[in-house]
Amino acid sequence: METLPESFAEYTWAPSTSELASRCGLDASEIVRFDGNVPAWPRGYVRPGAVAGALAAVNTYAHGGYPELIDAIAAYVGVSPDNVVLGNGSDDLILLCARTFAGPGDTVAIAGEPTYPLYRTAAMLAGATVDSESPSVTYQCRPNNPSGALEAVDSRRPLVVDEAYYEYCGDTAVDEIETGVVVLRTFSKAFGLAGARVGYAVADPDTAAELRRRQAPLPLSAPSVALALAALADPPDVGPEIAERERCAAALETLGLQPLPSSTNFLLVPTTRAVELGDALLTRGLVVRVFEDGIRFSVRDREDDDLLLEALAETLELPSPVKPTARRRVRHLRSTAETRISVRLGLDGQSRVRVATGVGIYDHFLEQLGFHGGFDLVLEADGDLETGDHHTAEDAAIALGEALDQALADRRGIARYGDAVVPMDDALARAAVDLGGRPWCEISLEHEPGMVAHMFQSLSQAGRLGIHVDATGVDAHHVAEAAFKAVGRALRIAVRKEGDALPSTKGKI
Ligand code: PMP
Repeated sequence: METLPESFAEYTWAPSTSELASRCGLDASEIVRFDGNVPAWPRGYVRPGAVAGALAAVNTYAHGGYPELIDAIAAYVGVSPDNVVLGNGSDDLILLCARTFAGPGDTVAIAGEPTYPLYRTAAMLAGATVDSESPSVTYQCRPNNPSGALEAVDSRRPLVVDEAYYEYCGDTAVDEIETGVVVLRTFSKAFGLAGARVGYAVADPDTAAELRRRQAPLPLSAPSVALALAALADPPDVGPEIAERERCAAALETLGLQPLPSSTNFLLVPTTRAVELGDALLTRGLVVRVFEDGIRFSVRDREDDDLLLEALAETLELPSPVKPTARRRVRHLRSTAETRISVRLGLDGQSRVRVATGVGIYDHFLEQLGFHGGFDLVLEADGDLETGDHHTAEDAAIALGEALDQALADRRGIARYGDAVVPMDDALARAAVDLGGRPWCEISLEHEPGMVAHMFQSLSQAGRLGIHVDATGVDAHHVAEAAFKAVGRALRIAVRKEGDALPSTKGKI
């Protein structure tokens, strides 16, 4: 076996979510990871259907590689296919570049340290030493991890520019590939495919050919390639994440912290209390990256980031920069071959609701239910709308029911029953609900816009609740809307915490 130098440090992963959960006595579902610099949820194109074709042919090799993905990447980057080299995540390409450009006796330079640690590991695995004196190759992380800073492209050549976070800044060194620059990119960050492990290098054709010669045969799996193709067909808009990053930065400043300006999807907050803050956050299930002199956290989305901001405020004994979030909260993801629905539900909320499934009328109805239920509800869906709205509307109701069931936990202490009468112009709806754990649904609608009765049935099955609704009127939209409002009002009463007892004389729900 070759001996590694004393100073060699292998890449080390943060502990698994289940390990962190057991360390802080929480359930794994309560752990929110801010340490991976990845989006909060899979993107809309991530559905089992996206990999169905690849699975159907998984018994064969991808003979000839993946020219379709190479072409799609070339078109996305604006280069020719012979400039593109695929890799098993950009980590694979970091290692490949090191063994291509450097060997025993060579030196590898690393610009702008502290930076991503794998460049050093890769250099040493290639047998080289890390030094800035006459390097055989230089690595630059641009924008840099962990600072988030976007420095000028280093002048040394050959230069490997790691653009893992390119989509968040739009600034690239691709225009310089003919001068000895190799650009590395990944589908792990903005495209939200970290688990699929897809990266690529962009280099001049000769360098690209040399990189390919040193690769393992077919370093990517066909299902991962299918996901990357789906991603490129519908590249994400990172605008909301950037806006969220700036909202977080402003909120941190109100806590007396000074996050560094970032061109990425994370913020580095310098502090001398990094370990203490990291530990305090971890006890609440919030995992950040702790450095000696700062904490780094990925920007997720408003609901998750507010948890972090609130917890930081509490630890620093300062007023929270955000409105207090609801208790009895759950995050739930339901994914089938037809739809992918993400739900956050807080039962003791402030009627902050957002429903976006792509089926406008049912979004509107579910928002009415959430709003009049007094819930905080964010429900987002990507469904096979090409087949019609049935699967999406049905699964949205099922996912909401499952989230409700989870948020109610053992249902101890709740009022259990609720009822409401809601008029709406010509329409009048009466609803009664029973959260006793038994699914039942009696629906009578004078007019049905299409999926209303089925959505209530789905909600009742998945949420294990009884729903009775009777709605009359002239206009179908009003009849349905009044029905959803009435069920929302009834739920508001039924979920109310009244004590600790199980709301059943049976002593079991
Ligand atoms: N480069 C940088 C700068 C990174 O932060 C990361 C992920 N932490 C990677 C590369 C690895 O990306 P991939 O998932 O494509 O291997």
